[in-house]
Amino acid sequence: MISCAAARRVVGLALLSVLQLAAEVRTLTILHTNDLHSRLTPSDNHKGGFAYLATVIRHEREGCVDCILLNAGDLAQGTPVSTIYRGMPVFEIANLLGIDVGTLGNHDFDYGWQQAQNFVETAKYPIVTSNVVNGDGRILTGKPYVIVKVNGLRVGVIGAMTNSLPTLTTPALMGDWHDTPVVETVRKYAAELRPQTDLLVILGHLGPDEEKALLADGAAPVIVSGHLHSNLPMALTDGGRVMVRMRGYGEELGRLELKVETKTKSVVSWEWKKIPVDSDKVAPAADVAALVKTWEDKVTAVVDRPMGVSKRRLTHAEVKVLLEDAMRDVTGADFAYMNLGGVRDVLPEGPLQERAAWNIMPFDNRVVFGVFKGRALPEVIKEGKTIDPDKDYRLAVSDFTAANQRAAEQLNSTGLVFREDKGLLRDALIQLIRKRKVIE
Ligand SMILES: [Zn+2]
Repeated sequence: MISCAAARRVVGLALLSVLQLAAEVRTLTILHTNDLHSRLTPSDNHKGGFAYLATVIRHEREGCVDCILLNAGDLAQGTPVSTIYRGMPVFEIANLLGIDVGTLGNHDFDYGWQQAQNFVETAKYPIVTSNVVNGDGRILTGKPYVIVKVNGLRVGVIGAMTNSLPTLTTPALMGDWHDTPVVETVRKYAAELRPQTDLLVILGHLGPDEEKALLADGAAPVIVSGHLHSNLPMALTDGGRVMVRMRGYGEELGRLELKVETKTKSVVSWEWKKIPVDSDKVAPAADVAALVKTWEDKVTAVVDRPMGVSKRRLTHAEVKVLLEDAMRDVTGADFAYMNLGGVRDVLPEGPLQERAAWNIMPFDNRVVFGVFKGRALPEVIKEGKTIDPDKDYRLAVSDFTAANQRAAEQLNSTGLVFREDKGLLRDALIQLIRKRKVIE
């Protein structure tokens, strides 16, 4: 007869050897996108478009037994269909892409927290964001993470939102929903999720410093990120962990092929590819193209109206100046300031439709102005000008900048009160281009 403790030890040893036997290497392929930003149709460089992206996704998934598709946020905002219909059609069309798990981006809150919650409900796939909660600690997406079963693996996906959220959203639209510290929150849920899974993946909408902090923290061996619209030239790695991010606007699809060791729940090896979505080379997926057309037909009457001609393509920085001209024009202000991050597209060369102004300024931001003494003007406004400190000057900005003065890249001011409202910034831009007729 053996003692209880000995028996337990025997069972323990037996369990251990079962676990050792069970330890194995399995493959997982993560297809991923980020910052699709409602670009339903290809951009003027012929890249992207939801129907073309769908074709590329379906091609990659053909016969693939270990593929999952993740989307790292900011589906909403960017084109007139999103502005006019408050993002919802984009989520309906995204249901055709075969996304397995998504996370929210800051712009998914542009139409308010209720609409963000509607997006979560409309999506036929789980959307997870672990660190956006309300005063009661309730998670906006309902759950912080989800487990996806693929190729014999239990893949735990934890959603993560940048802590810049407060400066990237309009406070009045957020109710009492707010972000919690991203690294700590992810770490907490990773500890909870690890025992139930074979691999953890952070699906994040993150700033570059947060990406690096999460990678260094080591809560999960894989990070699929979005928010910056540029791709990583190479995957970032740290201690055997790997992080990837694609270019925005659906111009490319990421494919991260992993070999996963289930005992240590770590990545043994990986390979990362960027697959271009070139509308000149692939055929659009018919079902997606049909739904895109339904929505585009509705907006075309509103936005495809000629407004002038541009002799050349204007860069984002040049469009910023054009927007500042438009703000001064509509307010009679001495000075105007537009944050470069708010300029969402270039101005194409050739005949211009009003759609170009919608793509540049998809937000329903308004032009506001105030009158301030020269001495109170922000440094960036005074730069290189002769300013009388006692004279009154009129300064125009967007209502977004007015509400987030510290966050506006260079304005770095607080407490300036802009009391006058001159309507939509997009309309001011359209009006200026109509007036000039030709943009040189
Ligand atoms: Zn973003």
